[in-house]
Amino acid sequence: MKSNSSTVKTRPTPWDALVFAAVAALAVLTALVFYGPKARTNAPLTCVVSVGGEVMDHVPLASFAGEHTYSHNGYTLTVRVSGGQVEVLHSDCPGQDCVHSGPISRAGQSLVCLPAQVVIHLESGTDGPDVIVG
Ligand SMILES: [Zn+2]
Repeated sequence: MKSNSSTVKTRPTPWDALVFAAVAALAVLTALVFYGPKARTNAPLTCVVSVGGEVMDHVPLASFAGEHTYSHNGYTLTVRVSGGQVEVLHSDCPGQDCVHSGPISRAGQSLVCLPAQVVIHLESGTDGPDVIVG
């Protein structure tokens, strides 16, 4: 009895919380409807480069154009970003798989050089990283 009355007294009006929740949900829904499809088809790509399990670069692809060099494990990779594409221009690794598997230009694609432990991954700007190499 005692505890019952005290909880009623200290509780904030439930209607305020409910209205707030409804408004917040509506705002989120509206944002999703307006920005969701647009963002999916036209999402800016982010280039994530991890070397030896550590993220070295996490840059929007649009502002990552040019040639970048990554050295690890005794191997050196030259990565070229141009026209929304990423490719390994040159690598001195034995397999050359990373050179042959490019270029990549869509979210979810990645270039992997196992000997050098270099992973270049493209992700859409709206999504969080779905693969964490470590
Ligand atoms: Zn390689």
